[in-house]
Amino acid sequence: ERTIQQIAAGEVVERPASVVKELVENALDADASRVAVAVEAGGTEGIRVRDDGVGIAADQLEAAVAEHATSKIGTIEDLDRGVSTLGFRGEALYTIGGVSRMTVRSRPRGAETGAEVTIEGGEVGEVRPAGTPEGTTVEVSDLFYNTPARRKFLKRTATEFDHVNTVVTGYALANPDVAVSLEHDGRETFATEGNGDLRSAVLAVYGREVAESMRKVRWTPDGTEVAGIGAGDGDEPVIRVSGLVSHPETTRASREYLTTYVNGRYVTANVLREAVIDAYGGQIAPDRYPFAVLFVEVPPGDVDVNVHPRKLEVRFDREPAVRRAVETATAEALLEHGL
Ligand code: ADP
Ligand code: MG
Repeated sequence: ERTIQQIAAGEVVERPASVVKELVENALDADASRVAVAVEAGGTEGIRVRDDGVGIAADQLEAAVAEHATSKIGTIEDLDRGVSTLGFRGEALYTIGGVSRMTVRSRPRGAETGAEVTIEGGEVGEVRPAGTPEGTTVEVSDLFYNTPARRKFLKRTATEFDHVNTVVTGYALANPDVAVSLEHDGRETFATEGNGDLRSAVLAVYGREVAESMRKVRWTPDGTEVAGIGAGDGDEPVIRVSGLVSHPETTRASREYLTTYVNGRYVTANVLREAVIDAYGGQIAPDRYPFAVLFVEVPPGDVDVNVHPRKLEVRFDREPAVRRAVETATAEALLEHGL
């Protein structure tokens, strides 16, 4: 049983950033308006994610950390329809608890008191009353303490923190209406305001120079054919693109600032990054890349996101159409720069 749990852990939990991803998704699923992430030593020593979401009732705490525990699927048909919440496998807390020491502390909104439960290497302790604000706090320490082989694969603190930062940044930019903060070894890395404004979130995460260079991308087929993509009548696919892209002079030496979302989900898709880069044409110096925060919407049936629980890669049925839509949208936004 324990072994199965540890093997399963390899699928979901590869490194501290994977733990952070699951915990932040849970917080967002719980309707949080604030999500505070704090990690120690890149997350290898400790991870804490606190939210002000709906919380978990004391009598549900044990179930929440059990195998296949999910409150998010009503029926099996929900799976076919495509669920709107981020997590739906019901295995993240169970799996993380199998390879760490984890405490889940929660007080449901409006409840008088809270409770907590601790799991150490899969061993679930007693549910105890705990003083805690409304919402949920999950603390994970000593990740992989009982799986030395996996612990050995952890990289330097700075590298692990980079991965954590990428994950939290991704969710912060995708959810400008949620105040997301990140702290490393007691120092604040960034904190978004949660005021619903994407540019304000970009300002918090990337700073003023980048935020001011950003131009709005908004492209929706409105009955006219744009770049060969239909209007969405009948069987035609509807592709929508929105977000922000930077002035060609505001660049970095890495592609990692090209952040893309498909149907609200943070993904890495080379086709999207390449489409953005193509739109800039020769306006960017070699080996430099723009900033972009782009939201692409395609019909759910047109995209395969079930590639792997740990991976964020997607495949599109109509990849050329998606590529053209993103390139067109980006090029139009750049026109605002007079470019
Ligand atoms: P999943 O997210 O796939 O349902 P998890 O193992 O991540 O599975 O979480 C199990 C259950 O615990 C969730 O379905 C939810 O009911 C509860 N839960 C976990 N984290 C939170 C949170 N931050 N706030 C409220 N409920 C939570
Ligand atoms: Mg989850």
